[in-house]
Amino acid sequence: MGKIEDLHVINGEGYQLTNLEKAVNVARANSVWPLPFATSCCGIEYMATMGSNYDLSRFGMERMSFSPRQADLLIIAGTISKKLAPVLKQVYEQMAEPKWVLSVGACASSGGIFDTYSVLQGIDRVIPVDVYVPGCPPRPEQIIDGIMNIHKMVKEEPLRRRYSDEYKHLLSNYKIDSNE
Ligand code: SF4
Repeated sequence: MGKIEDLHVINGEGYQLTNLEKAVNVARANSVWPLPFATSCCGIEYMATMGSNYDLSRFGMERMSFSPRQADLLIIAGTISKKLAPVLKQVYEQMAEPKWVLSVGACASSGGIFDTYSVLQGIDRVIPVDVYVPGCPPRPEQIIDGIMNIHKMVKEEPLRRRYSDEYKHLLSNYKIDSNE
């Protein structure tokens, strides 16, 4: 959740100062629009995470997006077949910058128990991943922990990172054009 200390404010008599980067990052971190890419059992755990017991709306995340252009956090929960991999990559490419990726569970992160000819052995074969959540399936508490780690990254990311050569190089490794 947004805390005043995240803004690193300087208080004076009748004024309060921060810098643009901190203010933008705190706003971004507390208004993430997730796109759930759920294909199997881990998706059910994600649904539980969205329920009232766990309540993602307290983090400003109750607005699910099933349209890539109106989402900034791609959450992959479940087994991804090799046949589905190009679709996942296309969804990622359609999302505007800045965007983040959360891999939920063993299947999304590494293929899990499905070491077979048809299953992608980890989504990081086709798109870059920011945070991995272990487990088969991970409990909602673990998924929330992964989301908290994403929030931490968002709050600390330099505003120019997406224009950096390092970031362009990362995307080029995946043969993805940066859409700056
Ligand atoms: S990691 Fe386990 S629970 Fe999650 S999709 Fe794979 S088999 Fe299902």
